[in-house]
Amino acid sequence: MKQLLKVAILLGFSGAASMSQAACSFDIEVGDYLKFSAADMTVEKSCESITVNLKHTGQLPAKIMGHNWVLSQNAVVQAVATEGMSAGLAANYVPQGDARVVAFSKVIGGGETTSVTFSTSALTVGEGYTFFCSFPGHSYSMRGAFNVNA
Ligand code: ZN
Repeated sequence: MKQLLKVAILLGFSGAASMSQAACSFDIEVGDYLKFSAADMTVEKSCESITVNLKHTGQLPAKIMGHNWVLSQNAVVQAVATEGMSAGLAANYVPQGDARVVAFSKVIGGGETTSVTFSTSALTVGEGYTFFCSFPGHSYSMRGAFNVNA
């Protein structure tokens, strides 16, 4: 019974997701806590570009509980997050002009929204990517797998 329920939930969820948003565009929410509303993301290389819409549903300002959405290959996430801290809020906690950063949004606070659109030409099918928040201290819990399908 438990297993059936689980399958039903999974089916229901994927059905709802495919109706509400295309595979080339994603709506992700964050709040006054260290978590993205999406645990992982899967995109298709056939999309010309990917758009990520980030919405902060919390109350706290960006300098206290700011969040952004940054994409890098798995192996460099820690280095990018660490160097991003020194870059500071004005640079969205992202090293400037860094080729290891595939895409990033600006840092937003409660009540704000932002979005980032980037070409899929920089993405390799099957490569391991991670999306994360580079606000100091957030990347350990605010991260998820970013899969690229053909
Ligand atoms: Zn964050």
